[in-house]
Amino acid sequence: MSSSEIAWARLTAPEIQSRARPETVVLIPTASIEQHGPHLATGTDMWLATEVAERAARKLVAAGTPALVTPCVWSGLAEHHMPFGGTLTLDVAGFSAVVGGVARSVARHGFRRIALINGHGGNTEAVATAAIELTKALGVPVVGTTYWNAAASEFRAILEDQVNVMHACEAETSMVMAVQPDGVRAEAIARAVPRRVAVPAPPGFKRHRGFVEMTDTGVMGDPRKASAAKGERLLEAAAGRIAEELGRPELWG
Ligand SMILES: [Zn+2]
Repeated sequence: MSSSEIAWARLTAPEIQSRARPETVVLIPTASIEQHGPHLATGTDMWLATEVAERAARKLVAAGTPALVTPCVWSGLAEHHMPFGGTLTLDVAGFSAVVGGVARSVARHGFRRIALINGHGGNTEAVATAAIELTKALGVPVVGTTYWNAAASEFRAILEDQVNVMHACEAETSMVMAVQPDGVRAEAIARAVPRRVAVPAPPGFKRHRGFVEMTDTGVMGDPRKASAAKGERLLEAAAGRIAEELGRPELWG
């Protein structure tokens, strides 16, 4: 059982240390606990980041690259969701410290390939910065990605109503239906559709807005197009792209 197990927390310390070889990839999922409208549970990003990372790790192992997945860093940057309630947020310094502490621990145990697999939009820039800073500080490559950006062209092909992940939308609702169906309140999907949505910043520009300024329901996108089958395809696409890239030795050399 332990030889195929990829979840760090389900292994003993000796089992983990026996895998501390130069080619082993350790994936660290990052997420957030936050409002996802009236129809999705607050654990959405944590479940999806973990699921993508675990599927990617199993694909790596199947292709001959040893891989482990740490427990998800569930606490992220979600100040922009606070007014809707149900949201737990860190600040940038706190989030960077937590991610840095986990990655540093992994490196201290002898692992030399570390990947931050982010599943929350508000963490995107902080995870990219952490990957840069940790690579310098730890002396081992720390790669960062947000899973829907890693699979942007695949997601565009699968989704019908939007081009990529938005928030509690066609994509996220589909994926939660696939992996955690009791996290979906089907009867609330119709009223989750926003009646008011802000115009997004032009491509290439960053304009910060709180979610209450952008949507009246806490949702961006239309979850009525969601299905478990679509969620399964999205998760497989994200995990497949991530495993493909993390399995390339050139990424780490
Ligand atoms: Zn989300």
